[in-house]
Amino acid sequence: MNAPAALDRDLRADFPGLVTREGAPWHYLDTAATAQKPRVVIDAMARALGEDYATVHRGVYSRSAEMTLAYEAARQRIAQLIGGAGSEIVFTRGATEAINLVANSWGRANLKPGDRILLSQLEHHSNIVPWQMIAEQTGAVIDVCPLTRDHRIDLDAAEAMLTERHKLVALAHVSNVLGSALDAKRAAALAHKVGAKLLLDGCQAVPHMPVDVAALDCDFYVFSAHKLYGPTGIGALWARGEILADMPPWEGGGAMIDRVTFAKTTYGVPPQRFEAGTPAITEAIAFAAAADYVSEIGLDAMHAAETKLVARLRRELSSMNDVRLFGPADSAGIVSFLIDGIHPHDLGTILDEANVAIRAGHHCAQPLMDHFDIPATARASFGLYSTDADIDALLEGIARTRRIFGRGTSQ
Ligand code: PMP
Repeated sequence: MNAPAALDRDLRADFPGLVTREGAPWHYLDTAATAQKPRVVIDAMARALGEDYATVHRGVYSRSAEMTLAYEAARQRIAQLIGGAGSEIVFTRGATEAINLVANSWGRANLKPGDRILLSQLEHHSNIVPWQMIAEQTGAVIDVCPLTRDHRIDLDAAEAMLTERHKLVALAHVSNVLGSALDAKRAAALAHKVGAKLLLDGCQAVPHMPVDVAALDCDFYVFSAHKLYGPTGIGALWARGEILADMPPWEGGGAMIDRVTFAKTTYGVPPQRFEAGTPAITEAIAFAAAADYVSEIGLDAMHAAETKLVARLRRELSSMNDVRLFGPADSAGIVSFLIDGIHPHDLGTILDEANVAIRAGHHCAQPLMDHFDIPATARASFGLYSTDADIDALLEGIARTRRIFGRGTSQ
């Protein structure tokens, strides 16, 4: 059977997006950018937009009351997925907005001149730029933790760098370029030892492994639904209850208030305090459907299947003497590489002709590209629907690209 190794049925059939317009198999190896959607998520979204549709939190009629229950149940479902409480989940537009929320609310309230923020060399731009913006406004300073030789965040270096001036450590739980997973518990212990908070960017972790924020002992956790087989336009911020309770609002408007007068406005309690305006109602419901879908398959089983695919692709690529591989051997679902003399964009374009979709570029991690002194990598990333046939197609496409570039097989 052409199903992912540790998964017992052909999950590709659940995903209408995995065929080309001509009906041929599409070898989608760009799940780290965004995941394809299973039919149950598409159906949940269509139902919420159709026969169930109404606004939340305001209507006195029964459809609105039911929609409010469904929206709040979605919050509980997302909290349950990562081991938090529903009252600690703020729905945002995605991970990017969640980090901007923490920077603008918690950061503005807690950072002062001379305070320090520790980031790492491998962060996605969305875990760099909001901190640069808030550092400029507050006078805080950013430090950058280096990487180990096997391309992980170097926590020994972090330990040596951290001081009592550090108020925040913000790190990727899994790198979107290298697939390297952080020892998050150790990062939390190091941050807490100096009195800093730990924010984890979980965009690439939640779709690949079970996550439990209580066990990780972090303070903030952010992720996006669209990378977890859910819709675009929604994501989540989890923040420890007592931290969230003290955070000021960052956007004003309807739904986030307690009482509004021109003399003085008071604000609602979290999480509503951070959800100004009509929320992404249908997206929240489809997000919960995605959480149900992955939980039913089992994140451990998904992780095991993806680990086998990563191991095979890394083995095949490392047997080619003109390929440079990035990331550690136990990369979570992501394989970044370069072939001598073939630009990743050329490779991506030629692969596309063979219905193989990879990502080529800087992956919103320009400081990481600078660290390696390269402009781009090619990146193949796996999801729960990925199979050995996808790797076969990629390897055939690489061989064809070599022929076009007259570069031989180089095995
Ligand atoms: N962090 C990481 C590690 C990511 O991979 C991404 C998406 N590429 C983001 C943050 C930003 O997520 P979004 O664009 O969904 O807000």
